[in-house]
Amino acid sequence: MRMILPSIFGFSRNFEAYPAIRFVLRLFRIKLNIGSFFSQEIFNTVRPELEKLIDLQKTDTNIRRLKNSVDTAEQRRAEIEQEFEQHAFSIREIQNRRDTLTAERGELEQSVSEYKTYLERADRNLKHSQNQKEYETAMREIDSFQRQIATFENQIVEKMTASEAVEKELTDRAEEIDSLDAKREETFASFDAELKTIKKELNAETAKRGKVFETLPAQLASVYNRMAQRSRDGIAVAEVINGSCSACYMALRPQMQVQVKRMDSIVTCESCTRILYINQPEPEQKTEATSAS
Ligand SMILES: [Zn+2]
Repeated sequence: MRMILPSIFGFSRNFEAYPAIRFVLRLFRIKLNIGSFFSQEIFNTVRPELEKLIDLQKTDTNIRRLKNSVDTAEQRRAEIEQEFEQHAFSIREIQNRRDTLTAERGELEQSVSEYKTYLERADRNLKHSQNQKEYETAMREIDSFQRQIATFENQIVEKMTASEAVEKELTDRAEEIDSLDAKREETFASFDAELKTIKKELNAETAKRGKVFETLPAQLASVYNRMAQRSRDGIAVAEVINGSCSACYMALRPQMQVQVKRMDSIVTCESCTRILYINQPEPEQKTEATSAS
C-alpha cells in the first residue's frame, strides 16, 4: 500500500498548525509501518475513526449553525418588533392627520359663528345708523365680515375634502389596522416556538457531540479540537466536492482522491491541512477500493 505524504510544511504558514500536522504525520507513519504487515488491520481501525471524525464534524457544524441561530435570536426579535412598530407608526400618523383636520375644522366653524355674531351686530348698526358716517362704517364692517366668513367657509371645504381622503385611506387599511395586533402576537408566538425547537435541537446535538467525542482516541480528539478552533469556520474535517477541498477549494491530485476514497488512511489537504473525506455510496466505494489496490 502506497501512501502519499502531503507537503504541508511548504504550504502552511500557521505555526499553530504544526503540532496538529506533526501528529497527523506520525499517524501516517505508524499506519505506514504497521500497514506493510497488517494492511487489513489498518482498514479496520482507520475507517471507524474517520467515520467518527466525519460524524463529529457534521454534528459540530450543525451545533455552530444552531448556536448562531440562538445568539442572533434577540436581534431578529428586535427587527420583527421594529417592523410592526413601523406599521403601527404609519397608521398612527394617518389617524393623527385625521384628528388634526377635525380639530382645525372645528376651530374654523367656531370662527364662522363668531363672525356671524359680528355681522348681525353690524346689520343692527346699519339699521339704526343716525348719520352718513355711522352708515358707512356699518357697511364697511358688513363687507369685511362677510368676506372673512366666506374665507373661513372655503377653508372648511378644503378641510372636509382632506378629511375625506384621510378617511378613505383609513378605510382601505382597516383590515390591516384591525389585524395588526393579532398578527404581531401570532408572529412572536411562532418565533418563540421556533426558537424553542432550535434550543432543544442544540441540546440534543451537544449531547450527541459529547458521546461521539468520547469514543475518539485522545490524541485524534485533541488534533480535531485544535484544528476546529484555529479555523474561522470551525471545520477540521472537510468534504471533497468535485475533486476539491470544500474548505479551501484546492483541487486534489487524482491519486490523492483515490486515497481519500479508500478511507484506509487519514489524508489531509495539502493546502489547509484539514482532514479530507469523500461522500460516496457504500457499494461503489468497495469495488473502487478493490480495483485500486
Ligand atoms: Zn483544503
